[in-house]
This record gives sequence, C-alpha cells and structure tokens, in this order.
Amino acid sequence: MLSVRWGGAGRCAGSPWLRRWQPEVVLGHDPEAALRHGCWRKLICGASNQDLAAITDLAWVYTRAGIHCIDVAPDPAVVAAARQGIAAALDPGQPPPWLMVSLNDDTDPHFRKAHFDPRHCPADCPRPCEAACPVAAISTTGVAMARCYGCGRCLSVCPLGLIEERPWRLERSQLLEILETCQPEALEIHTRPGAFSAFTQLLALLQPLLPRLRLLAVSAGGPLAHLVPYLWQLHGLLVTQPVPHLWQLDGRPMSGDLGRGTAHAAVALALGVSRHGPPGLIQVAGGVNRHTQKLLDRHGLSGHGEKPPAVLGRPPEARYPGRRLDLEDAPLSREALDGVIARVGRFGGDNRAGIARTLHRISAIRNRSGEVIGLTCRVGRAVYGTVAVIRDLVESNQSVLIMGYPGVGKTTVLREISRVLADELERRVVVIDTSNEIAGDGDIPHPAIGRARRMQVPDPQHQHRVMIEAVENHMPEVIVIDEIGSEQEAWAARTIAERGVQLVGTAHGHQLANLIKNPALRDLIGGLQAVTLGDEEARRRGSQKTVQERCAPPTFPLAVEMHSRDCWHIHWNVARTVDALLRDRPVQSQVRRLDERGILHVQNPSPCPPGLGEPGTSSMAQSAMVQPAPSAAQDIPLSIYPSGVTSHQLDALIHDRQLPVQVVRTVDRADAVLSLRNSLSHDPGARRVAKGLGVPIHVIKSAKPTQLQKALERLLLRFRTKGNAVV
Ligand code: SF4
Ligand code: SF4
Repeated sequence: MLSVRWGGAGRCAGSPWLRRWQPEVVLGHDPEAALRHGCWRKLICGASNQDLAAITDLAWVYTRAGIHCIDVAPDPAVVAAARQGIAAALDPGQPPPWLMVSLNDDTDPHFRKAHFDPRHCPADCPRPCEAACPVAAISTTGVAMARCYGCGRCLSVCPLGLIEERPWRLERSQLLEILETCQPEALEIHTRPGAFSAFTQLLALLQPLLPRLRLLAVSAGGPLAHLVPYLWQLHGLLVTQPVPHLWQLDGRPMSGDLGRGTAHAAVALALGVSRHGPPGLIQVAGGVNRHTQKLLDRHGLSGHGEKPPAVLGRPPEARYPGRRLDLEDAPLSREALDGVIARVGRFGGDNRAGIARTLHRISAIRNRSGEVIGLTCRVGRAVYGTVAVIRDLVESNQSVLIMGYPGVGKTTVLREISRVLADELERRVVVIDTSNEIAGDGDIPHPAIGRARRMQVPDPQHQHRVMIEAVENHMPEVIVIDEIGSEQEAWAARTIAERGVQLVGTAHGHQLANLIKNPALRDLIGGLQAVTLGDEEARRRGSQKTVQERCAPPTFPLAVEMHSRDCWHIHWNVARTVDALLRDRPVQSQVRRLDERGILHVQNPSPCPPGLGEPGTSSMAQSAMVQPAPSAAQDIPLSIYPSGVTSHQLDALIHDRQLPVQVVRTVDRADAVLSLRNSLSHDPGARRVAKGLGVPIHVIKSAKPTQLQKALERLLLRFRTKGNAVV
C-alpha cells in the first residue's frame, strides 16, 4: 500500500504522485475492500496542516481520483473543510473515502510548527528560509501557522539561527470532545519505539471511540532493530482491541519529494517489518514517491493483488506469484458475494465482467442452476515496454500470432502493440475486444491502447462477425484480436488477412505444435490435408504413403511463442516451421531474452527476415519447392493485380519463392493482371481499365500453387526480356 505525503497549501496540482496516479489500481474499491486487496491509498494532508482552503481542494482532487482515506489534523475546522471537498467530488454511487484524524502519544515531528520573529531579521537577508519552505508558509510577516506542517526544513537554514520549532499538540482534556465533534472513520496514532507507556495511556483514553472506528493506523519509524520489538509489543495490545489496525511505516519522515533514496528507505523498512515484524497490514509512508511502486513490485510487496478468488462458503484469498494470502478468516457469505457482483459490470456470455475504465477482470463460477457461487478477480495493469522485444515484427506489416500459457502476459502485449501501432506508427488500428480485457470495461477504452479504436463483442460466440464487420466498416490497417479460439474465428482471420489487413492476435496453445494438433485453429498456420505419396517419394522421405501436408499459406506468416514474460521464441517463417514439424525435422527458432536490467539478448541473432527461412530448417530447400534464380529486374518488381486469386495466396508464394513480384490493389498500378478464367467477367471495371491502359491479362485455369508459380514465372520472363514491361 502507498500513501501520499503532500506538502501543503496550493501544492495539490503539483503533486508528483497525483500526476502518476493510476486510477485503474484503485477505482471501484471501497476503502474496506481496498484494504483487503492491498491497494489502499491514503492522502496525508499533514497532521499539523490547518490551511482550510488547500485541504478542501486536496480532498476534492483526491476524491475524484478514487482515494480511500484522507488523513487530516485533529481540528473540527480541518475535518469540515475536508468533508466539504469530498462531498463536492463524489460521483453518484462512489464510496466516500474515510476521514482519518492523526494523534500523537508523545513528541513527534508531525506535530510541530516553525516559528521566528520577523522583526529580528536584517533587511539585507537573502531569505533562504522562504526558499526552503515547500509550502510557502514563510513571508516577511513570519510563519503562517495554518500552512506550516512542521517539516523542519527551514530550521537549519537561517544564518542567524532565528527559527525554532514549537510543539503543536492537543491537550488530552480536549481530545475526546474534539474527536466526538469530528466523527472520523479512522484514527492514526504517531508513536516511537520506547513510548509504549504513552501509547497505552492514549489508547485507554480512546476506548469509548474505538468500536465506532473502521481502522486504527499506528505510525512509527526508526531503526528496524528498535522498531520490530516495539511493534510486537504493540501487537500484543492491539489484537484485543475492537478495531482492525495497520502498521504505517515512516521510512524517512516527510521526505517523499526528495528523490529515490527516500523511496529505498521506505521500502527497506516495509520489507524488514514484513519479514520480522508482527502480522498485519503494512502501509508504506514517509519517503513515498514515484520510485516506490517499482521497488515494491521488485520485492514482491506490491499492493496489486493478482487473482483473488472468492468462493461461497470459503474464506476469500489473494494469490500472488508464489504465495497466497487469506483476505478474511470468515467464509464468504451470500450477501458479501452479491455485494461484489452488484458493483461490477454485467457478466457476458463468457462469464466475465469488469469495472468501468479499469483493466480488472472478474470471472464468475456458477452452480448447475446458473447462480454465481464464486469469483476470480484478476487485477489488470497496463505494462509499458513489453513490445520492445518484438517491435521489429510488429513494424514489418505482416500478421503476427502470439501464443503462450494463460497468464504469461499475452493480453498485456496486445494492449501495448495496439498503442504503439496507433500512436507511434500512426496506423488505423481496430481492437476486437471480446471480453473487454484489452481496453477495459465500459464504453471509454483504457488509455493503454492509445488512439486505437475498440469494438466490443456483444456475444463471444459472434466474435468472428465483429472481426469481419471491423474490416468492412472501419477501414483498419491493423486488427488486434485476443484469443482466437474457434474455427469461425480462424476463418474470419484468414478472410481479413486476404484483404491485406495486418493482424495481430493471440490463440490458445503455447507452441506452434499445439496449433497443428488443434483442428479448429490449424487453419491459422495453413491447415492440413492428407496427401498420398508415390512409392518412390515415400521411400525417399522414409515416411508412410499417406502423410499430412500444409494445404495453404499461413494466415500469420510470423509467430511468437511467449515461454515466460522474459523469454520469447520467434518463428520468422511459419510456413517452413510447420512443414518442418510435419516432417519431424528440427525447428530452430530465434530466442529473445530480457535480463533483469531490461537488456535484450538474442540467441541465434543472425537476421532471418520473413521468406528466407530459418537456420536449421535448410532441409526444406530439398523439398519440391524450387527457388528461382535472382532476377535481373529484381530491383524493379513486377506489379500484379490479381482477379479471382487471393492476394494472400500470391503473397505467400512470392515470399516462399523470393520472387521479385508485388501485389497491387488497382489495375492502373499493375504491370499485368493475373486472373482466373471467367473471374474478370465479375469485375468489369478492372477489365475496362486494363484494356484502356493496355495492361496485359494473363488467365489461368486454377489457383493451385503450381499453376500460380508457373504463371508468375512466365510473366517475370516476359517482364525481364521486354525491359521491365510485360507484353
Ligand atoms: S517547518 Fe518551516 S519549512 Fe517546514 S512547513 Fe513549516 S515553515 Fe515551512
Ligand atoms: S533566514 Fe533567518 S534572518 Fe533571514 S529572513 Fe529567514 S528567519 Fe529571517
């Protein structure tokens, strides 16, 4: 968990943390649920900050951002100012953040203010105190007490030593009365190792209030060797109290804006307490800044729960990589489950729902009568930088198929590919978002897909229709599809690819070999057909007479196997890889690994562009395929307009044979028209233009690969011999 330390009046807009706010992490959670899920966020306004206008503004801004708790000074005017900001910011149905009031059991830097007498300041003083104050609390009239939150930065900068600190604390006699007026939902007690007796006294004083509270935060810091025994001592006291508690750890008090070092101190303290301290939730504070989340992730302390399953009759639990955490001791009740279901979007035909404008996925488990009896809630995050591993493939304009085990990060990669293609390469990208998993729930897509447009799928059974509709209606250059899983979707993908649109998709299965065995999806990699060989050929191959062969060019010429988040295998020529697999020949893919520092290592790094085949599959050259000699006119390719022949078929043949031919979409750009017999009669416009421009029309009887190859070779011969013009 993170909290926010804010510097004071007028600084909310400049808060570095707010600029990096990740609403998808927290929105949709009420404070209690956020605590359970470990993504609870708190705004600390400053235990001695009394700048009412600034507090109202801050409460408004952070409530809009989905904060779970706002921590303020124990002052009824301050609490009223915060509540005013919260009330103005709340959306209908949004759970309000808790208001927490900070108290201290002893002397604490959070409860002090600076003071000096401005009449003693020399007129020519360069006023370093003003520059040191992060909240502009110092002026020629002295320290504005309401603004000063006691950070202490001005104390040592005065060359004349005029500035002193003054404690700011409530009298114990007033405390209960003030808290009764404030009615906070939570309390925070600042303490320090060695102050057990003062803490016990304060807790005894607060007893009448405790049953009404939702949370008691214990804020402490200091060296781990002193802090851990002290927290164990407090734990013995707090487990008997009628309110849940958390440990708020002050890694480096009031220093979150100072840089990376303070974040290290905050996380190191949390790590130490999580290993050696008493049980309970830990809140990272004091030194939190933009580096903190990364450090928490690195140490496995991140508050982003991964897949918390909740099943009726069993306690809900959170699952993190390598560990499990019980979220509650009591079994999940029907009411609690219904409460969760009421707050998420509608479950679709695939039993999945989401939370608007987040990437979280909630999947339902139903009983035999269709009633939801359990949920798996996967916390989704946008991760940037993953596409760097395969950026060259994505930029190649060729269709890319991504495979991998569930949970390896395929959807995360698709999301970023969409953004890179749409924003950085300025392509027209349409995302087919079957379960709203790529761009999140709700009608407004998550910013993680950039300017890519998203088409939702009303019924997962009809994903293939939406895929075709995308091509027919929205003129995409790229279509991104998650989880191609049925024969119809594989057919739709082929149709799209044949129209010259780049596809980037994922499919069930973690290796190309899995797709070969999947009858529904094998069309993606060219499909299979049984072929009966002649005796001699079967003997030469050492195979049976009936073998399986690929029957068409793959829909996806490029394929990526994600073996883990950091290890990717690239197949530059899917056709050749599939052929090699079918003949039990070795397949060698290019292996790309990211190390811990994010540096990419490529095994078998020799460039292996599409069409050239892979090292280790050179035996393919021994097959019936014949590589033509390089053409003299290779640098000026022959332009072919196909009619009745799919451009996909031609493209695959051109790549396989390395022919200096390109497929064009209009007759006026073509050197020749290649047409199936009678096909041009259905395309009178093309025939008219070809006649008008004198573009020769070459007619073939069928679109078999051998026929196509012969036709292209014939056209190429004429093209070369007649000086780059077909006659
Ligand atoms: S202690 Fe000094 S620097 Fe810090 S807020 Fe108060 S006046 Fe400003
Ligand atoms: S630095 Fe010291 S002397 Fe100078 S203006 Fe500030 S308080 Fe006065």
